[in-house]
Amino acid sequence: MRRRVLKSGPMHPAIPQLLELQRLDQIIASLRAELDGLPKQLREADAKLNGARAAVAAAKEAHTHGLTNRKKLELDAEQWKGRAKKYREQTGSVKTNEAYKALLHEAATSEAEVAKAEDQVLEQMMALEEVDRRVKRTEAELKEAEQFITAEKKQMQVQYGEKNQKLEAATAEREGIARKVPEDLLELYARIAKRHPGSAMAEARGEQCRACGMRVLPHTLQLLLSETDEEVLRCEMCGRILYSLEPIPHATPKETANGAANS
Ligand SMILES: [Zn+2]
Repeated sequence: MRRRVLKSGPMHPAIPQLLELQRLDQIIASLRAELDGLPKQLREADAKLNGARAAVAAAKEAHTHGLTNRKKLELDAEQWKGRAKKYREQTGSVKTNEAYKALLHEAATSEAEVAKAEDQVLEQMMALEEVDRRVKRTEAELKEAEQFITAEKKQMQVQYGEKNQKLEAATAEREGIARKVPEDLLELYARIAKRHPGSAMAEARGEQCRACGMRVLPHTLQLLLSETDEEVLRCEMCGRILYSLEPIPHATPKETANGAANS
């Protein structure tokens, strides 16, 4: 078993499996993080859509408001027109010149108000055309956003399914590897991984623990390179399980799969 996993050289027999375990734990953790991020992605997509919907609602409200305003101004113009007409009619039945002049003045004032209100109606109509364009534009943008987000969500669901499958495969593969590791070592690995997620194992290279930089004694290095069924060696500083990649452990996916199937 050991010789099949290791290409060459001595090392603690559980090290290659522990390294494989770590590799799978890293994959599992990253897949879990990506899967956990999906609800947030969906919420963000919905927020984009809600923004587009709010823009349409605001444009429509502005349109309704503009229409109401225009109607009110039209009514104002009508009222002033009616008054002006009434004053003009009354001029035919007044007796004094002063009263006649006063009526003419009232009529002129009312007609000025008519002109003012009609100008405002025109302005309002132009503003309404602008608002109309805004309604159409925001509606088109909403439609686009809906199509985009529908496609985006579909893609997210596909990715979710794929990642879930990968997670299941990695979890199954991990179980297969874990079965080959002695119980006490597995517990030790889990304990260290809890403190150092994804890096319970540390390479000893250049007389150093590559995880924390602590010096590794030559004697320890010597022990690392000797094939032994004794306890694994740990970094005195960070407590990680030390391994040396000289010689390089070699576990191809095929061998790993076979190993998992055989156990
Ligand atoms: Zn260390």
